[in-house]
Amino acid sequence: MIFTRSQQELFRMKRAGVIVAEVHELMKQHIKPGVTTMELDEIAENHIRRNGSIPAFKGYGGFPASICSSINHQVVHGIPGNVRLAEGDIISIDTGAQLEGYFSDAAKTYPVGKISSKAQDLIDVTKQSFYEGLKFVREGCRLSDISHAIQTYAESYGFSVVRNYVGHGIGTSMHEEPQIPNFGMPGKGPRLKKGMVLAIEPMINAGHYDVHVLSDGWTVVTDDGSLSAHYEHTVTVTEDVPEILTVC
Ligand code: MG
Repeated sequence: MIFTRSQQELFRMKRAGVIVAEVHELMKQHIKPGVTTMELDEIAENHIRRNGSIPAFKGYGGFPASICSSINHQVVHGIPGNVRLAEGDIISIDTGAQLEGYFSDAAKTYPVGKISSKAQDLIDVTKQSFYEGLKFVREGCRLSDISHAIQTYAESYGFSVVRNYVGHGIGTSMHEEPQIPNFGMPGKGPRLKKGMVLAIEPMINAGHYDVHVLSDGWTVVTDDGSLSAHYEHTVTVTEDVPEILTVC
């Protein structure tokens, strides 16, 4: 079942969304050569807790941190640690907050210092693929219209769309129905209704789309070692243009 949320619920989700957006602003400020991913995690967790919310990722399925930090060929679910970021890396940060029982979730990929033009293209195309999908977040559209728009855009640049991980509904749990693949034919799946809340999150690889999980049980990497980028917002379906909840 796909829930639709009342105005009051959406207001709460928006407040959780602002906190997540502020964490991303802090990440942008602090991501630079030499910083460790554990330091970034501490900054994120402090901000989430200082605002009366709970890190949604910490303890989720046993995940040990408040952010996922995925560097270069790491796709998602990287665990923060002692690794220091280096000039030319790219790093995907994914984080979520729970406030008064309502969740928000957002991810972005950041450059570390000066990066290659190929890496910048991957970041830019991944971000824009989200916005291409967002055009179909509207009452009456079908769920896979979003998926198709993301895939078509990303592949037109020669990149590939990760198949094994998908976006999701979000509300009083971090992961709710429906699953939202970033690929597929248009015109399929449920019709979108006002009040549905979706976490749309293209994960785009510079090379092939196949991925695997490392022996830590979490970190997902590209099979071919190519770079990967991620972009996610929590968004609401309205009668008109969608509202992005994870902005400040
Ligand atoms: Mg998500």
